[in-house]
Amino acid sequence: MVRIGIDVGGTGIKVGALDKGMEIVASSSIPTAKDLPFAVQVEQIVDCVLKTVSGAGLSPDDIESIGVGIPGIASAATGEIIKCTNMGWNHVPFREEFRLRLDKPVLIENDANVAALAESVAGISRNTSSSVFITLGTGIGSGIILNGKIWSGFHGIGGELGHVIMKLDGEPCTCGNHGCLERYCSATALIRMGREETSKRPDSMMLTMADSDPMNITAKIVIDAARAGDPAASDVFRRYCEYLAQAIGSVINFLDPEIIVLGGGVSKAGSFLLDPIRALYSQYVIFRDQPMAEVDLAVLGADAGIIGAAMLS
Ligand SMILES: [Zn+2]
Repeated sequence: MVRIGIDVGGTGIKVGALDKGMEIVASSSIPTAKDLPFAVQVEQIVDCVLKTVSGAGLSPDDIESIGVGIPGIASAATGEIIKCTNMGWNHVPFREEFRLRLDKPVLIENDANVAALAESVAGISRNTSSSVFITLGTGIGSGIILNGKIWSGFHGIGGELGHVIMKLDGEPCTCGNHGCLERYCSATALIRMGREETSKRPDSMMLTMADSDPMNITAKIVIDAARAGDPAASDVFRRYCEYLAQAIGSVINFLDPEIIVLGGGVSKAGSFLLDPIRALYSQYVIFRDQPMAEVDLAVLGADAGIIGAAMLS
């Protein structure tokens, strides 16, 4: 028997078949097709699942369950996907449509929750019962694991650390509010701060690396320039780390998990990010003379979505 994990991403949908030991035995992928009718999108996903299973030398009878991680929210009770902007899905009966074609248990979860679960079972936070996973990407995703299970709230809309407000009347957010944490801690925030800094300090290496156009500045450019010792980029990165350390301190004050795991694009900076964060976050914790959560980097990388989705039960 295999468990199927489906990772619905921004540009592609990845499908993996996992054996009892949670090893990926076969995988395939298809591009996301936002503009196709919903039924056709589901049909393509089912076809990709069937292809993956036959690629492992198995038949549909060998499928135990199907887990789906989406950048959005779904109802666990009805299997309806409430919102998934990448796919153009708004209140679509995903599980019902899927089971018309392949009648297996189908579980759907938010992708950050899925990655949190994957890390807590097979990654850096394994052997812990409580953890918070934070993805530092275009936005901020977060997943909470309590007693080994995903906690997404009583109504399924919790765990949205990115939209906890950090600053009154702060930066406008895609959610409609101002000053949300993801406006200060995401890769997008790092880029914005980099661009703002170069307007004041045009001699910055960031601008040279961006071919003199601030619009070309990426999170990687800010990090690389900071790593190379550019004073403007170093100031930006230090401020970014302060914001992130504050966010981590707030998570500890509120939830006190065993570990906080950082993933997503910015976490690729590795120890260049982790070292300052580890040096800074405890000052924002109220009981700072007590033992507190470790902060570490995610280890599962691109397969976390497939692995975590397959683990849904
Ligand atoms: Zn927001």
